[in-house]
Amino acid sequence: MKILILGLLFVTSTLFGASIVNDTCPYSGKPAKETLTHTISVCCKKCEKRALKDLAGTLARVTDATKCPFSGRKGSKQLIIGFCCKNCLKKGKNQGN
Ligand SMILES: [Zn+2]
Ligand SMILES: [Zn+2]
Repeated sequence: MKILILGLLFVTSTLFGASIVNDTCPYSGKPAKETLTHTISVCCKKCEKRALKDLAGTLARVTDATKCPFSGRKGSKQLIIGFCCKNCLKKGKNQGN
């Protein structure tokens, strides 16, 4: 079931041509790449704004990429975060686990 949901999210973001929400890596401040991404979810606009303000801090709160890290509710909006290198991507994915 989880795989199915993730698959649907992937298809959805592909259809809408989603791109990364950040220009620079949350950890290094270097330019973020569209090919090194981690997707998290937020429940509403308010949480989206909060997440964009502090991506590194937000990533640290994420325990489940399908749930909003602030409210704990099911995320309805996906945020695709880009990183500058594989090390930062790994760091972002492993936060909160
Ligand atoms: Zn919210
Ligand atoms: Zn990096």
